Amino acid sequence: MSDTRPRPVLLWFRRDLRLDDNPALLAAAATDRPVLPVFIHDPAEFPGEATRWWLHHSLAALTASLAGRGLPLVLRRGPAAATLVQLSRETGAGLVLAGRVPEPVQRALEEEAAASLGEQGVELRLLDSALLGVPGQLQTGQGGPYQVFTPFHKAFTQRVRISEPRDAPDRLSAWPVRVPGEELASWELLPRISWDSGLGDSWSPGEEGAQQLWRRFRGSGLAHYGDQRDFPAVDGTSRLAPHLHFGEISARRLWFDCLEANGAGVAEFARQLVWRDFAHELLHHFPHTTQQPLREKFAHFPWDGDPALLPAWQQGRTGYPLVDAGMRQLWHTGWMHNRVRMVVASFLVKHLLLPWQEGADWFMDTLVDADLANNTFGWQWAAGCGADAAPYFRIFNPTAQARKFDKQGRYIRRWVPELASLPDRHLHQPWEAPSAVLAAAGLRLGRDYPRPVVDHAWARARALESLRKMGTS
Ligand code: FAD
Repeated sequence: MSDTRPRPVLLWFRRDLRLDDNPALLAAAATDRPVLPVFIHDPAEFPGEATRWWLHHSLAALTASLAGRGLPLVLRRGPAAATLVQLSRETGAGLVLAGRVPEPVQRALEEEAAASLGEQGVELRLLDSALLGVPGQLQTGQGGPYQVFTPFHKAFTQRVRISEPRDAPDRLSAWPVRVPGEELASWELLPRISWDSGLGDSWSPGEEGAQQLWRRFRGSGLAHYGDQRDFPAVDGTSRLAPHLHFGEISARRLWFDCLEANGAGVAEFARQLVWRDFAHELLHHFPHTTQQPLREKFAHFPWDGDPALLPAWQQGRTGYPLVDAGMRQLWHTGWMHNRVRMVVASFLVKHLLLPWQEGADWFMDTLVDADLANNTFGWQWAAGCGADAAPYFRIFNPTAQARKFDKQGRYIRRWVPELASLPDRHLHQPWEAPSAVLAAAGLRLGRDYPRPVVDHAWARARALESLRKMGTS
């Protein structure tokens, strides 16, 4: 006897863990078929501890909001292609709908899944919603990829038609058959040693958390974004990066909300969203840049710093207060202010002369917003070896940066509490403070707080000499 039940559509959730403005979800509703949402966990996709923590909580939130609409989310672990084939066999599904993930490995995986499903007569339909536009859609006048942001931004705003965001569908019918899935807890995404309380205090992963954050920022931060975004002690940026990475909020929704918002900071914020598209554009055209410098001559850069200083940088014990504050903020909350990311990245590659890939790996492990495209772009920028990068010879002075962007030292005092009692004028350079000042602040340099692991002037000269060697090698 043949099975006459309607066959479901598989709705494959990936980096689009939301219901709002989700084209795959809308397409599933438009088929008028029962919908079976699935998430497939491939541990290799989320190697970082912080993003695994986020994924756990985000999936719990998505499970709850789908359940509220009567749809159970099926969790499976394994290679995506084989798991989708298996699920389509189990359910008789003839169509899989999913959001595209604009990363090289994911692109290969999508091709593999489409081929394996195709052999079974199942269609994989991929829809774009991760970015404002689609990587590869713009070309320069010469027909090549853009490598400089300003012309990319100009072409983007003039030529790209950003699709209007759409609300979640009113009605979705669930596949009435119970499909076995795995327990989220069995994936062990949460750390075994509980170091994650700072993450829990700082974040609410999931679509609801993303929307709340956006509402708050839109109401009070957005208009002043341009003036406040560079000061790490001020809550002046949106902190939406991890929510955007996991697709808990639609970039297009943010863009269209910005079109209706007033204030000097709005255009500047919208521009950051285009930076995000630009970073993905570069990754699309130059996938090797996750490991290799875009500017080839940097492949011969003499990274001969002392590897023993890497842990000092990672743990925020370099003796440079702004660098240490940033690295500790990262460790504690899974996030670091953009200005400070630039300073700590520059410090690693120029003051410590350690390869940018080491820093990129550490960020991928510890950031809740770890994102292959944005992180690769940020590190190549800092190391001077990427597209539109800061030239290597321009070396941030971490003390001058601290004086400029954390003048009163509020950020430093928060994250490096052992320096909190130092007067403002000595806070940024404790090694220059007279011993009476140190004693009054109860600070013993070298014991309570390290002396600088490298001298700024010496490190600067060494970095420039390395650049010269690279040029002549
Ligand atoms: P906001 O200032 O509120 O900006 C809004 C959004 O625009 C961000 O959420 C982000 O999606 C996007 N955006 C902002 N700045 C950039 C930028 N320079 N490049 C690309 N997109 C941007 N960002 C990540 O999302 N993931 C990373 O792994 C990452 N690694 C970085 C590494 C280095 C060395 C540097 C210098 C920057 C890195 N960035 C990364 C970019 C930037 O620091 C963060 O996007 C930003 O600090 C996130 O905070 P926010 O959400 O409050 O940003």
